[in-house]
Amino acid sequence: MKKAKNILNMRNLVHVVIIVAAFLAGIAAALVIAKNSGVGIHNDSDSHTVVVDVASGDTLTSLLTDQGFTTADVLVIADVLKDGADISSLRAERDKIEFIRPEPDADVSQIVIIPSPWRRVELTCNDAGDWECKTVDIERDTRAVYRTGEIMDGDSFYLAGARAGIPDGILAEVYDLLAFEMDFERDVRAGQHFSVLYEENFSDGKKIDNGRVLAVQFQALRGNVQMYRFRKDDGKTGYYDENGNGAIKSLKRTPINNARITSSFSNSRKHPVLGYTRAHKGVDFRASTGTPIPAAGAGRVVARGYNSGHGNYIKIRHNSSFETLYAHMSRFAKGVVVGTNVKQGQTIGYVGSTGLSTGPHLHYEIIKDGRHVNPMTVKLPAISNLGRADKERFLEYRRVLDDGIKQLAQHPDWFIQM
Ligand SMILES: [Zn+2]
Repeated sequence: MKKAKNILNMRNLVHVVIIVAAFLAGIAAALVIAKNSGVGIHNDSDSHTVVVDVASGDTLTSLLTDQGFTTADVLVIADVLKDGADISSLRAERDKIEFIRPEPDADVSQIVIIPSPWRRVELTCNDAGDWECKTVDIERDTRAVYRTGEIMDGDSFYLAGARAGIPDGILAEVYDLLAFEMDFERDVRAGQHFSVLYEENFSDGKKIDNGRVLAVQFQALRGNVQMYRFRKDDGKTGYYDENGNGAIKSLKRTPINNARITSSFSNSRKHPVLGYTRAHKGVDFRASTGTPIPAAGAGRVVARGYNSGHGNYIKIRHNSSFETLYAHMSRFAKGVVVGTNVKQGQTIGYVGSTGLSTGPHLHYEIIKDGRHVNPMTVKLPAISNLGRADKERFLEYRRVLDDGIKQLAQHPDWFIQM
Protein backbone atom coordinates (compact mmCIF):
# COMPACT_ATOMS: atom_id res chain seq x y z
CA MET A 1 0.00 0.00 0.00
CA LYS A 2 1.20 3.46 -0.68
CA LYS A 3 1.48 4.94 2.78
CA ALA A 4 -0.34 8.19 3.37
CA LYS A 5 2.20 10.90 2.74
CA ASN A 6 3.98 11.91 5.88
CA ILE A 7 2.42 15.19 6.82
CA LEU A 8 5.52 16.02 8.79
CA ASN A 9 6.89 17.20 5.51
CA MET A 10 5.98 20.73 6.32
CA ARG A 11 6.63 22.40 3.01
CA ASN A 12 4.48 19.86 1.25
CA LEU A 13 1.65 20.41 3.63
CA VAL A 14 1.40 24.12 3.09
CA HIS A 15 1.86 23.66 -0.62
CA VAL A 16 -1.03 21.21 -0.82
CA VAL A 17 -3.37 23.38 1.18
CA ILE A 18 -2.65 26.25 -1.13
CA ILE A 19 -3.05 24.12 -4.25
CA VAL A 20 -6.30 22.63 -3.01
CA ALA A 21 -7.41 26.10 -2.06
CA ALA A 22 -6.64 27.43 -5.52
CA PHE A 23 -8.45 24.57 -7.17
CA LEU A 24 -11.56 24.91 -5.11
CA ALA A 25 -11.72 28.66 -5.11
CA GLY A 26 -10.88 29.32 -8.70
CA ILE A 27 -11.88 26.31 -10.71
CA ALA A 28 -13.89 23.35 -9.45
CA ALA A 29 -13.83 20.71 -6.79
CA ALA A 30 -13.90 18.13 -9.54
CA LEU A 31 -10.27 18.85 -10.36
CA VAL A 32 -9.10 17.60 -7.00
CA ILE A 33 -11.43 14.67 -6.91
CA ALA A 34 -10.45 13.67 -10.43
CA LYS A 35 -6.98 12.83 -9.13
CA ASN A 36 -8.40 9.84 -7.32
CA SER A 37 -9.57 7.70 -10.21
CA GLY A 38 -8.15 4.32 -11.08
CA VAL A 39 -7.73 2.73 -7.67
CA GLY A 40 -10.02 0.88 -5.37
CA ILE A 41 -12.46 -1.98 -5.52
CA HIS A 42 -14.15 -2.61 -8.81
CA ASN A 43 -17.31 -4.59 -8.48
CA ASP A 44 -18.02 -4.73 -12.17
CA SER A 45 -21.49 -5.87 -12.99
CA ASP A 46 -19.93 -8.49 -15.24
CA SER A 47 -22.10 -11.63 -15.25
CA HIS A 48 -19.01 -13.82 -14.64
CA THR A 49 -18.61 -12.41 -11.16
CA VAL A 50 -20.82 -13.29 -8.23
CA VAL A 51 -20.54 -11.01 -5.22
CA VAL A 52 -21.77 -12.31 -1.86
CA ASP A 53 -22.12 -10.25 1.31
CA VAL A 54 -21.33 -12.74 4.05
CA ALA A 55 -24.44 -13.13 6.21
CA SER A 56 -25.04 -14.77 9.55
CA GLY A 57 -24.90 -18.56 9.15
CA ASP A 58 -22.68 -18.44 6.05
CA THR A 59 -19.44 -20.37 6.25
CA LEU A 60 -16.58 -20.63 3.80
CA THR A 61 -17.63 -24.24 3.20
CA SER A 62 -21.27 -23.41 2.53
CA LEU A 63 -20.43 -20.52 0.21
CA LEU A 64 -17.86 -22.56 -1.74
CA THR A 65 -20.21 -25.54 -1.98
CA ASP A 66 -22.92 -23.23 -3.35
CA GLN A 67 -20.49 -22.27 -6.12
CA GLY A 68 -19.94 -25.91 -7.10
CA PHE A 69 -16.74 -26.73 -5.20
CA THR A 70 -16.26 -30.30 -3.94
CA THR A 71 -15.38 -31.09 -0.35
CA ALA A 72 -11.79 -31.82 -1.40
CA ASP A 73 -11.57 -28.39 -3.13
CA VAL A 74 -12.96 -26.68 -0.05
CA LEU A 75 -10.29 -28.22 2.17
CA VAL A 76 -7.48 -27.16 -0.17
CA ILE A 77 -8.80 -23.60 -0.49
CA ALA A 78 -9.29 -23.29 3.29
CA ASP A 79 -5.66 -24.36 3.80
CA VAL A 80 -4.30 -21.89 1.26
CA LEU A 81 -6.36 -19.12 2.81
CA LYS A 82 -5.12 -19.92 6.30
CA ASP A 83 -1.47 -20.08 5.22
CA GLY A 84 -1.54 -17.15 2.82
CA ALA A 85 -3.74 -14.64 4.59
CA ASP A 86 -4.25 -16.02 8.09
CA ILE A 87 -7.99 -16.16 7.49
CA SER A 88 -9.74 -19.19 8.93
CA SER A 89 -13.34 -18.02 8.98
CA LEU A 90 -15.58 -15.39 7.44
CA ARG A 91 -17.25 -12.64 9.42
CA ALA A 92 -20.97 -12.09 8.94
CA GLU A 93 -22.09 -8.55 8.05
CA ARG A 94 -18.46 -7.56 7.44
CA ASP A 95 -16.71 -9.67 4.82
CA LYS A 96 -17.54 -9.79 1.15
CA ILE A 97 -16.59 -12.61 -1.18
CA GLU A 98 -16.42 -12.62 -4.98
CA PHE A 99 -16.37 -15.65 -7.26
CA ILE A 100 -14.97 -15.00 -10.71
CA ARG A 101 -15.36 -17.29 -13.72
CA PRO A 102 -13.56 -16.85 -17.05
CA GLU A 103 -16.79 -17.86 -18.86
CA PRO A 104 -20.35 -17.86 -17.54
CA ASP A 105 -20.50 -21.66 -17.17
CA ALA A 106 -16.85 -22.32 -16.35
CA ASP A 107 -15.45 -23.29 -12.96
CA VAL A 108 -14.55 -20.48 -10.58
CA SER A 109 -10.95 -19.46 -11.29
CA GLN A 110 -10.59 -16.68 -8.77
CA ILE A 111 -12.03 -16.07 -5.32
CA VAL A 112 -11.67 -12.64 -3.75
CA ILE A 113 -12.32 -12.07 -0.06
CA ILE A 114 -12.75 -8.45 1.01
CA PRO A 115 -12.33 -8.20 4.79
CA SER A 116 -12.08 -4.40 4.86
CA PRO A 117 -12.44 -1.53 2.42
CA TRP A 118 -8.65 -1.34 2.38
CA ARG A 119 -7.69 -4.95 1.76
CA ARG A 120 -8.55 -7.76 -0.67
CA VAL A 121 -7.35 -11.34 -0.50
CA GLU A 122 -7.17 -12.91 -3.94
CA LEU A 123 -7.13 -16.68 -4.40
CA THR A 124 -6.30 -17.64 -7.96
CA CYS A 125 -6.28 -21.07 -9.57
CA ASN A 126 -3.13 -21.28 -11.73
CA ASP A 127 -2.69 -23.33 -14.92
CA ALA A 128 -1.47 -26.34 -12.94
CA GLY A 129 -4.71 -26.28 -10.97
CA ASP A 130 -3.11 -25.07 -7.73
CA TRP A 131 -4.60 -22.23 -5.70
CA GLU A 132 -2.40 -19.26 -4.89
CA CYS A 133 -3.12 -16.56 -2.36
CA LYS A 134 -2.21 -12.89 -2.60
CA THR A 135 -3.16 -9.96 -0.37
CA VAL A 136 -3.67 -6.59 -2.02
CA ASP A 137 -3.85 -3.37 -0.04
CA ILE A 138 -6.19 -0.79 -1.54
CA GLU A 139 -4.73 2.64 -1.95
CA ARG A 140 -6.63 5.21 0.04
CA ASP A 141 -6.96 8.88 -0.61
CA THR A 142 -6.86 10.60 2.76
CA ARG A 143 -8.00 14.15 3.33
CA ALA A 144 -7.82 16.15 6.52
CA VAL A 145 -11.01 18.07 7.14
CA TYR A 146 -11.68 20.76 9.71
CA ARG A 147 -14.89 21.15 11.71
CA THR A 148 -15.66 23.76 14.26
CA GLY A 149 -18.54 24.08 16.72
CA GLU A 150 -19.92 26.08 19.57
CA ILE A 151 -21.49 25.00 22.85
CA MET A 152 -25.03 26.35 23.10
CA ASP A 153 -27.14 26.80 26.22
CA GLY A 154 -28.00 23.44 27.77
CA ASP A 155 -25.78 21.66 25.25
CA SER A 156 -23.44 18.77 25.78
CA PHE A 157 -20.15 18.54 23.94
CA TYR A 158 -21.58 15.57 22.00
CA LEU A 159 -24.63 17.51 20.84
CA ALA A 160 -22.55 20.49 19.79
CA GLY A 161 -20.08 18.21 18.01
CA ALA A 162 -22.81 16.39 16.12
CA ARG A 163 -24.29 19.74 15.06
CA ALA A 164 -20.85 20.73 13.76
CA GLY A 165 -20.91 17.65 11.53
CA ILE A 166 -18.28 15.68 13.42
CA PRO A 167 -18.95 11.92 13.15
CA ASP A 168 -19.69 9.96 16.34
CA GLY A 169 -16.51 7.87 16.32
CA ILE A 170 -14.32 10.97 15.93
CA LEU A 171 -16.25 12.80 18.67
CA ALA A 172 -15.73 9.90 21.07
CA GLU A 173 -11.98 9.99 20.37
CA VAL A 174 -11.87 13.75 20.82
CA TYR A 175 -13.74 13.46 24.10
CA ASP A 176 -11.27 10.83 25.30
CA LEU A 177 -8.38 13.13 24.43
CA LEU A 178 -9.84 16.25 25.99
CA ALA A 179 -10.83 14.35 29.12
CA PHE A 180 -7.14 14.18 30.04
CA GLU A 181 -7.06 17.96 30.32
CA MET A 182 -10.62 19.04 30.94
CA ASP A 183 -13.35 18.46 33.44
CA PHE A 184 -16.40 18.55 31.17
CA GLU A 185 -18.64 19.38 34.09
CA ARG A 186 -16.82 22.49 35.20
CA ASP A 187 -14.88 23.62 32.14
CA VAL A 188 -17.67 23.62 29.56
CA ARG A 189 -20.04 26.58 29.21
CA ALA A 190 -22.32 27.98 26.51
CA GLY A 191 -20.47 30.18 24.05
CA GLN A 192 -17.26 28.16 24.02
CA HIS A 193 -15.79 27.15 20.69
CA PHE A 194 -13.98 23.99 19.69
CA SER A 195 -12.46 22.57 16.54
CA VAL A 196 -11.24 19.24 15.23
CA LEU A 197 -8.98 18.35 12.32
CA TYR A 198 -9.44 14.72 11.32
CA GLU A 199 -8.96 12.40 8.38
CA GLU A 200 -11.53 11.12 5.93
CA ASN A 201 -10.54 8.19 3.72
CA PHE A 202 -11.74 7.99 0.15
CA SER A 203 -11.52 5.28 -2.45
CA ASP A 204 -12.47 5.99 -6.05
CA GLY A 205 -13.76 9.38 -4.99
CA LYS A 206 -16.20 7.86 -2.52
CA LYS A 207 -15.86 8.42 1.22
CA ILE A 208 -15.30 5.06 2.92
CA ASP A 209 -14.46 5.81 6.53
CA ASN A 210 -12.84 8.23 8.94
CA GLY A 211 -9.19 8.14 9.89
CA ARG A 212 -7.32 9.66 12.78
CA VAL A 213 -7.81 12.78 14.81
CA LEU A 214 -4.95 15.14 13.89
CA ALA A 215 -5.63 18.19 16.03
CA VAL A 216 -8.11 19.31 18.64
CA GLN A 217 -8.74 22.68 20.20
CA PHE A 218 -11.22 23.64 22.92
CA GLN A 219 -11.66 27.05 24.55
CA ALA A 220 -12.28 25.74 28.03
CA LEU A 221 -13.02 27.85 31.06
CA ARG A 222 -9.53 27.38 32.45
CA GLY A 223 -7.89 28.23 29.12
CA ASN A 224 -7.45 27.09 25.55
CA VAL A 225 -6.74 23.34 25.33
CA GLN A 226 -4.85 22.24 22.22
CA MET A 227 -3.63 18.81 21.18
CA TYR A 228 -1.80 17.63 18.08
CA ARG A 229 -1.08 14.16 16.80
CA PHE A 230 2.64 13.90 16.07
CA ARG A 231 4.99 11.15 14.92
CA LYS A 232 8.29 10.99 16.75
CA ASP A 233 11.56 10.13 15.06
CA ASP A 234 11.28 6.57 16.36
CA GLY A 235 8.00 6.18 14.45
CA LYS A 236 5.75 6.23 17.53
CA THR A 237 2.84 8.64 17.44
CA GLY A 238 1.21 10.45 20.30
CA TYR A 239 -0.75 13.57 21.19
CA TYR A 240 1.01 16.65 22.48
CA ASP A 241 -0.12 20.04 23.66
CA GLU A 242 0.90 23.25 21.87
CA ASN A 243 4.21 23.30 23.71
CA GLY A 244 5.06 19.71 22.91
CA ASN A 245 4.20 18.26 26.31
CA GLY A 246 2.60 14.82 26.28
CA ALA A 247 -1.19 15.21 26.27
CA ILE A 248 -1.97 11.59 27.10
CA LYS A 249 -1.77 11.18 30.82
CA SER A 250 -1.16 7.98 32.69
CA LEU A 251 -4.57 8.38 34.36
CA LYS A 252 -7.95 9.72 33.32
CA ARG A 253 -9.78 12.23 35.43
CA THR A 254 -13.14 10.88 34.32
CA PRO A 255 -13.00 7.14 33.65
CA ILE A 256 -16.57 7.00 32.25
CA ASN A 257 -17.16 9.16 29.19
CA ASN A 258 -19.83 11.79 29.35
CA ALA A 259 -20.94 10.87 32.88
CA ARG A 260 -22.30 13.67 35.03
CA ILE A 261 -20.49 14.49 38.25
CA THR A 262 -23.03 14.29 41.06
CA SER A 263 -20.65 14.87 43.92
CA SER A 264 -17.20 16.45 43.88
CA PHE A 265 -14.13 15.82 45.95
CA SER A 266 -14.31 17.64 49.23
CA ASN A 267 -12.72 17.55 52.62
CA SER A 268 -16.12 18.02 54.27
CA ARG A 269 -19.59 17.37 52.96
CA LYS A 270 -22.85 16.13 54.37
CA HIS A 271 -22.97 12.43 53.63
CA PRO A 272 -26.22 11.58 51.75
CA VAL A 273 -26.79 8.34 53.64
CA LEU A 274 -25.12 8.91 57.00
CA GLY A 275 -26.45 12.47 57.26
CA TYR A 276 -23.44 13.90 59.03
CA THR A 277 -20.52 15.76 57.61
CA ARG A 278 -17.50 13.86 56.48
CA ALA A 279 -14.92 14.11 53.74
CA HIS A 280 -15.77 12.86 50.28
CA LYS A 281 -12.50 11.40 49.12
CA GLY A 282 -13.46 10.93 45.51
CA VAL A 283 -15.75 12.04 42.74
CA ASP A 284 -19.16 10.52 41.99
CA PHE A 285 -20.23 9.99 38.40
CA ARG A 286 -23.84 9.23 37.67
CA ALA A 287 -24.29 6.27 35.34
CA SER A 288 -26.86 3.53 35.00
CA THR A 289 -26.38 0.11 36.55
CA GLY A 290 -24.33 -2.12 34.29
CA THR A 291 -22.36 0.69 32.58
CA PRO A 292 -18.83 -0.66 32.02
CA ILE A 293 -16.16 0.95 34.20
CA PRO A 294 -12.84 1.33 32.38
CA ALA A 295 -9.52 1.36 34.23
CA ALA A 296 -8.35 4.99 34.42
CA GLY A 297 -4.84 3.90 33.56
CA ALA A 298 -2.67 0.86 33.05
CA GLY A 299 -1.71 -0.92 36.24
CA ARG A 300 -2.13 -3.92 38.47
CA VAL A 301 -5.23 -4.76 40.49
CA VAL A 302 -4.12 -4.69 44.15
CA ALA A 303 -7.52 -5.07 45.83
CA ARG A 304 -10.88 -6.48 44.84
CA GLY A 305 -13.55 -7.02 47.43
CA TYR A 306 -16.53 -5.75 49.37
CA ASN A 307 -16.88 -3.46 52.33
CA SER A 308 -19.95 -1.80 53.80
CA GLY A 309 -18.96 1.68 52.61
CA HIS A 310 -17.56 1.04 49.14
CA GLY A 311 -19.64 -2.02 48.32
CA ASN A 312 -17.91 -3.95 45.56
CA TYR A 313 -14.69 -2.11 44.82
CA ILE A 314 -11.43 -2.46 42.94
CA LYS A 315 -8.16 -0.71 43.58
CA ILE A 316 -5.45 -0.43 40.95
CA ARG A 317 -1.80 0.51 41.50
CA HIS A 318 -0.49 2.42 38.46
CA ASN A 319 3.07 3.26 39.44
CA SER A 320 5.08 4.01 42.52
CA SER A 321 2.93 6.99 43.41
CA PHE A 322 -0.59 6.64 41.92
CA GLU A 323 -3.47 4.32 42.81
CA THR A 324 -7.14 4.53 41.80
CA LEU A 325 -10.23 3.08 43.47
CA TYR A 326 -13.66 2.33 41.97
CA ALA A 327 -16.61 1.72 44.29
CA HIS A 328 -20.29 0.64 44.40
CA MET A 329 -19.88 -1.78 41.47
CA SER A 330 -22.75 -4.11 40.67
CA ARG A 331 -20.22 -6.73 39.60
CA PHE A 332 -16.59 -7.20 38.58
CA ALA A 333 -15.45 -7.88 35.04
CA LYS A 334 -14.68 -11.50 34.27
CA GLY A 335 -11.05 -12.41 34.85
CA VAL A 336 -10.16 -9.21 36.71
CA VAL A 337 -8.78 -10.35 40.06
CA VAL A 338 -6.05 -9.25 42.46
CA GLY A 339 -2.80 -9.43 40.49
CA THR A 340 -4.37 -8.86 37.05
CA ASN A 341 -2.51 -6.37 34.88
CA VAL A 342 -5.02 -4.09 33.19
CA LYS A 343 -4.66 -1.66 30.29
CA GLN A 344 -5.95 1.90 30.27
CA GLY A 345 -9.60 1.72 29.20
CA GLN A 346 -10.01 -1.98 29.95
CA THR A 347 -13.35 -2.78 31.61
CA ILE A 348 -12.78 -3.81 35.22
CA GLY A 349 -16.36 -3.87 36.46
CA TYR A 350 -19.85 -2.43 36.10
CA VAL A 351 -21.67 0.47 37.74
CA GLY A 352 -23.99 -0.40 40.59
CA SER A 353 -25.19 0.82 43.95
CA THR A 354 -23.62 -1.63 46.39
CA GLY A 355 -22.43 -0.43 49.81
CA LEU A 356 -23.32 2.99 51.19
CA SER A 357 -24.96 4.47 48.12
CA THR A 358 -28.23 6.20 47.27
CA GLY A 359 -28.39 5.13 43.63
CA PRO A 360 -26.28 3.72 40.81
CA HIS A 361 -23.06 5.70 40.35
CA LEU A 362 -19.31 5.29 40.18
CA HIS A 363 -17.35 6.59 43.13
CA TYR A 364 -13.81 7.20 41.87
CA GLU A 365 -10.74 8.01 43.94
CA ILE A 366 -7.19 8.89 43.01
CA ILE A 367 -4.60 8.23 45.68
CA LYS A 368 -1.21 9.87 45.30
CA ASP A 369 1.61 8.76 47.57
CA GLY A 370 -0.95 7.34 49.98
CA ARG A 371 -3.11 10.48 50.17
CA HIS A 372 -6.45 11.09 48.48
CA VAL A 373 -6.29 13.87 45.93
CA ASN A 374 -8.95 15.63 43.85
CA PRO A 375 -9.15 13.75 40.52
CA MET A 376 -10.31 16.91 38.79
CA THR A 377 -7.35 19.06 39.72
CA VAL A 378 -4.40 16.78 40.49
CA LYS A 379 -1.52 17.19 38.04
CA LEU A 380 -1.26 13.90 36.20
CA PRO A 381 1.96 12.58 34.68
CA ALA A 382 2.23 12.36 30.89
CA ILE A 383 2.84 8.95 29.35
CA SER A 384 5.47 10.22 26.96
CA ASN A 385 7.23 13.52 26.50
CA LEU A 386 9.33 14.64 23.55
CA GLY A 387 13.10 14.70 23.50
CA ARG A 388 14.83 17.87 22.37
CA ALA A 389 15.11 17.01 18.66
CA ASP A 390 11.53 15.75 18.45
CA LYS A 391 10.34 18.84 20.26
CA GLU A 392 11.99 21.13 17.74
CA ARG A 393 10.39 19.22 14.88
CA PHE A 394 7.07 19.26 16.69
CA LEU A 395 7.09 23.03 17.14
CA GLU A 396 7.88 23.57 13.46
CA TYR A 397 5.16 21.07 12.48
CA ARG A 398 2.66 22.76 14.72
CA ARG A 399 3.38 26.20 13.25
CA VAL A 400 2.77 24.92 9.74
CA LEU A 401 -0.29 22.91 10.68
CA ASP A 402 -1.75 25.93 12.47
CA ASP A 403 -1.27 27.95 9.29
CA GLY A 404 -3.12 25.25 7.34
CA ILE A 405 -5.88 25.19 9.94
CA LYS A 406 -6.25 28.96 9.67
CA GLN A 407 -6.96 28.58 5.97
CA LEU A 408 -9.38 25.74 6.55
CA ALA A 409 -11.18 27.80 9.19
CA GLN A 410 -11.93 30.44 6.58
CA HIS A 411 -12.96 27.92 3.94
CA PRO A 412 -14.99 25.07 5.46
CA ASP A 413 -15.13 23.15 2.15
CA TRP A 414 -11.38 22.91 1.74
CA PHE A 415 -9.28 20.05 2.96
CA ILE A 416 -5.66 19.09 3.25
CA GLN A 417 -4.70 16.38 0.80
CA MET A 418 -2.61 13.90 2.77
ZN1 LIG B 1 -18.59 8.99 46.35
